[in-house]
Amino acid sequence: MTATPRVVVVGGGIVGLCTAWHLVQRGCADVVVCERATAGAGSTGRASGGIRQQFARETEIRMARESVAFWERFEAVFGASMNFRQVGYLYLLTTPALVADAERNVALQVACGVPSRMLDPVGIGALVPEVNLEGVLAGSCCPTDGRAHPLAAVAGLARALRRRGVEIRENSAVTAVTVVNGRVTGVTAGGETLGADWVVNAGGPNAASVGRMAGVDLPVRPVRMHQFVTAPVTGLTPGRPVLVEPATTLFAAEEGEGMLLGMRQPDATGEHVDVDWEFLPDVLRVAAHRIPRLEGVRVETAWAGLVEMSPDHVGIIGSVPEVQGFLCANGLSGHGFMLAPAVGRIAAGLVLDGDVPGIDLATLSPLRFRAA
Ligand SMILES: Cc1cc2nc3c(=O)[nH]c(=O)nc-3n(C[C@H](O)[C@H](O)[C@H](O)COP(=O)(O)OP(=O)(O)OC[C@H]3O[C@@H](n4cnc5c(N)ncnc54)[C@H](O)[C@@H]3O)c2cc1C
Repeated sequence: MTATPRVVVVGGGIVGLCTAWHLVQRGCADVVVCERATAGAGSTGRASGGIRQQFARETEIRMARESVAFWERFEAVFGASMNFRQVGYLYLLTTPALVADAERNVALQVACGVPSRMLDPVGIGALVPEVNLEGVLAGSCCPTDGRAHPLAAVAGLARALRRRGVEIRENSAVTAVTVVNGRVTGVTAGGETLGADWVVNAGGPNAASVGRMAGVDLPVRPVRMHQFVTAPVTGLTPGRPVLVEPATTLFAAEEGEGMLLGMRQPDATGEHVDVDWEFLPDVLRVAAHRIPRLEGVRVETAWAGLVEMSPDHVGIIGSVPEVQGFLCANGLSGHGFMLAPAVGRIAAGLVLDGDVPGIDLATLSPLRFRAA
């Protein structure tokens, strides 16, 4: 029997855990996950749990479709619920350019087997009568998109990994990656030295710092993102799709009897996750315009987290030739929860086979950012 490599995964978020899962599924017997805090304590535990397949590029559409299939089977495979509600995602399109992009994207999604479709304003009104259709020219919708509970997914995966012999070392920050003659040989984690044939950088918003430990420059930048949860609101359609308005970046999803609201905040860079309450009136104004029943609603709780942005907003999965055995699985730019199952399979394939058939690896490689 051929010995499988010893793999140290840096980061116990959803990407690190999915990578470890696919490695053990492929028979890799020696996998250690090093997490500086506790599993899921990074971006994953702050995500809104949105899972969608409405992407513009074929690679991500295929990754999203594969990931939805994984999430659909989660309970059967892991014996734990992650509360995946396939309520759909509905994009509200307010300019001719956005409609043209959506029509192109939907055609590509359908060609990839995703059941998305365009809707006219009458169709949108029938689905979510509470939406103010002023300025809405069309919508795009995929009924198998939805939302799940990220920390429940973390818990189910972590339990299964431990049962399969994977060590998840919590409170074990990786502070150094050892590289000898251009090849990774191990890490220092929690003050201990661990040997490794491969080190997977699943450090989420901290991926650039983990990259620097191996001498690999990664353009991953943390951007703060907020979520606001309203008090109960009457008159909203139960089981309604997640609403996204690209022109304003509004995200509005069912959350108990209220709504979970988010919106991109300009210039929200930086490493801290304090809630900026001065941003709330902007979010409420945009949300109440589109969903008038939110006018005057009270916000009961809020949190912020860091999103791991890459320059082109596509994940960074792959290695660089100067440091053999150092694999990036990061930069997912706010899509890391939904895409993690496919990211983990690709990462495991690169470790074990050096290739992943059917995936355009060049679009994911860290080398795409290097000057030609
Ligand atoms: C408010 C908000 C809403 C979001 N909504 C969605 C959504 O709806 N859908 C979606 O798909 N995505 C969403 N995201 C993005 C999503 O959270 C991330 O893309 C995803 O969690 C990335 O997973 P990860 O495992 O790469 O990163 P993380 O979950 O951040 O995991 C990385 C882990 O690495 C650990 N770590 C870092 N450095 C070290 C080190 N030196 N040593 C050891 N451990 C280390 C960290 O502690 C962390 O636990 C949202 C993010 C935010 C902030």
